Amino acid sequence: MAKFLCVCGESISTSGGIPNSNEWRCLSDIEFDRLFGQVDVEDLYRQMVIFYRCPLSDHIWAFWDGLESPPSLYTPTAVLDGGAGGTHEAGGDRPSL
Ligand SMILES: [Zn+2]
Repeated sequence: MAKFLCVCGESISTSGGIPNSNEWRCLSDIEFDRLFGQVDVEDLYRQMVIFYRCPLSDHIWAFWDGLESPPSLYTPTAVLDGGAGGTHEAGGDRPSL
């Protein structure tokens, strides 16, 4: 897979220029703890989950099981009350922090 289509129609490349401006890598806190103290950047790079962020729609495509497995799609949702760092009112549909 060298590219795929976002739900908005934008073509997102998974190869080509390095670094890829649409590619993000993520590591769970548990994995970070397990790897703490390692300095081999290549090992770290290979163990991270790959995300692609659509430059047009901000959809996030997460390849939890690598590029050979189907991705999960995450759709951006507007946060109307100031976001995670904002104030929270009782009765909202989000959990308390
Ligand atoms: Zn898109």
